[in-house]
Amino acid sequence: MNEAEFLKKKFREYYSTHAVNSVPSIEAREFGIGDFKKKIVKRHMHFSSVAELNNFLRKEAPLYISYSAAYYKEPEARPMENKGLLGSDLVYEFDADELGLDCKEEHDFWYCKKCGNSGKGSVKNCSNCGSAVEQYQFICEKCLEETKKQMLKLIKVLDEELGIFEQVSINFSGNAGYHLHIRSEKVRPLSSAARLELVDYLTLAGFTAEASIADFSEKMLKCVKPQAVKGAKARVLNRMIEFISNANPDELAAFGGIRLSKARYVHENRAKIIEKMKQGILDYLPGSKATSVKFWQNLIEHAKHCEALKLDRQTSIDIHKIVRVPDTLHGSTGLIAFGSKQIKVFINKAPKFKLGAERFGPYENEQAVLPEYAAIYLIGKGLASLRE
Ligand SMILES: [Zn+2]
Ligand SMILES: [Zn+2]
Repeated sequence: MNEAEFLKKKFREYYSTHAVNSVPSIEAREFGIGDFKKKIVKRHMHFSSVAELNNFLRKEAPLYISYSAAYYKEPEARPMENKGLLGSDLVYEFDADELGLDCKEEHDFWYCKKCGNSGKGSVKNCSNCGSAVEQYQFICEKCLEETKKQMLKLIKVLDEELGIFEQVSINFSGNAGYHLHIRSEKVRPLSSAARLELVDYLTLAGFTAEASIADFSEKMLKCVKPQAVKGAKARVLNRMIEFISNANPDELAAFGGIRLSKARYVHENRAKIIEKMKQGILDYLPGSKATSVKFWQNLIEHAKHCEALKLDRQTSIDIHKIVRVPDTLHGSTGLIAFGSKQIKVFINKAPKFKLGAERFGPYENEQAVLPEYAAIYLIGKGLASLRE
């Protein structure tokens, strides 16, 4: 039995005891399936009922199965234009890979098939021969913690600022992040352009100091009064106030791009500076106007960076995208559903990783006895084999 067959067998076992009932309006969705290391090998599939989908899963046990956020008159019709679009859920995706976290340098690695070179971190091309490399991404507690924080922030903004947090479902994306689906009637008719506008708002694309909250054109530097605005502007201004009240002089110097002596001045006068901000005035620092403008610009950029959601833009804009069916297995990771029966595998390479409460690794060209779920995790990533 090779690795692909082994995974299939295990997936079949899983689907024979777990029914999937996570897709509302199943008859109007397009489905797609994937295979060992390929997330999509076939699209334009259609199931007329939950029972039909589950029969298919038990019989075929695909390693990946995705469905359309869109609703169609004829989901199986091709090309896309012939399907008859009826509307589409809004889908937002956070991926730990996109958050720019330091831990990725520790747990991700790459391998060059051409020359055999390998190394740590997220690298696209081999440092030795320049060929495209195979990338292996892992997640740690920090990755999960950060994606969770982003998700909570998104929920707050969707609910409090945009008023569209209705009929929501949140799922592990299977790889290294989360999907949030909004299935409310309100969002279904939104065009791609409207979805783009929403993403721009959430990611603060196009938010700049002078276009959004500040005026540096006159002698007195001004800002919008935080208490007079709502939404993203208020969030950025309040984040600035929070930063000024809590940052030490070193942090003020680093993020404000000013000398330590000036940062000390800001720190000592923080109460007065914040009071002025609330009156719509950005206070002068000792020195030239240019120094003050630079400081405020940097501070606004920093606050913007903290407030911007690190969403995958493409997922939320593309009306026709297909995404993982919630509660299904995922061929390269989400396999914690499997048991803890011990099996023997040969592991090419794996960093330290954690699944559920168990810690594993690191491994390098060695045989190991692992609980089934951990073995399936590594086999699915193509990093372990059944070889004795
Ligand atoms: Zn190479
Ligand atoms: Zn991590």
